[in-house]
Amino acid sequence: MKNQLTGSATALQLHAIPAFNDNYIWLLHNGQSAAVVDPGDANPVLQTLKKLNLDLCAILITHHHHDHVGGIADLVAAFPQAVVYGPAQESIPHRQHALAEGDEVDLDRLAIRLQVLDIPGHTAGHIAYFGHNSPEAPILFCGDTLFSGGCGRLFEGTPAQMLESLEKLSALPANTLVCAAHEYTLSNLVWALDVEPDNPQLHDYYQQAGDLRATNTPTLPSTLARELQINPFLRTHIPTVQLNAAKQSGRKAHNRIDVFAQLREWKNNA
Ligand code: ZN
Ligand code: FE
Repeated sequence: MKNQLTGSATALQLHAIPAFNDNYIWLLHNGQSAAVVDPGDANPVLQTLKKLNLDLCAILITHHHHDHVGGIADLVAAFPQAVVYGPAQESIPHRQHALAEGDEVDLDRLAIRLQVLDIPGHTAGHIAYFGHNSPEAPILFCGDTLFSGGCGRLFEGTPAQMLESLEKLSALPANTLVCAAHEYTLSNLVWALDVEPDNPQLHDYYQQAGDLRATNTPTLPSTLARELQINPFLRTHIPTVQLNAAKQSGRKAHNRIDVFAQLREWKNNA
């Protein structure tokens, strides 16, 4: 039976291709055709495509930073049919489809449809892609906005914008696979343990993540359910988080935006 959202009974394969020091370039494929997200470097992508004998049909970009767009030109040269999607409000090399909230990306050859969400904060025009790889497996490509145990730095946005963006992501289904663009998990969790020293889920996850990294295995994708339990930036409503953020900053927070700003400042200096 075909399901309406994916148009296919079989889920796509999802791979994290490591690039640079700590980037992941996400690859979705069905054994023949492939899409990649944020290819900062073409080489590891080309190697993987070759090894798996895949044809690249789409390149999805979340924001304009070089470690996310640097490989586009070489990929398009190798696969001229590949369509490049990116945020409308940012300058993206080779972009053919300029996207903003409410737009959909219909990847025919992969039989998956992705919704575009505006999530400014890390950059002014940052977008995310959300879709259903199967009914049980919603999937989110969130670039440098939501990391496991952390969030992106505010290069072009305000705390209020970033908090709103993270709240938008938090409202997605709890079983959503969170495909973030960096392996920052362990260092985020070390800091998160300072924010919430008595969070048992956080302690468990820190163990798990440490075991994974010890064998160089990605900690990603995470799930939204887990992030809601352990990621301080999604927990500005929790009294312990509020208390410790205020203590660390030496200021009183008047609302959750203040709490978020205190956390972001704390993490920047951690
Ligand atoms: Zn970035
Ligand atoms: Fe990045």
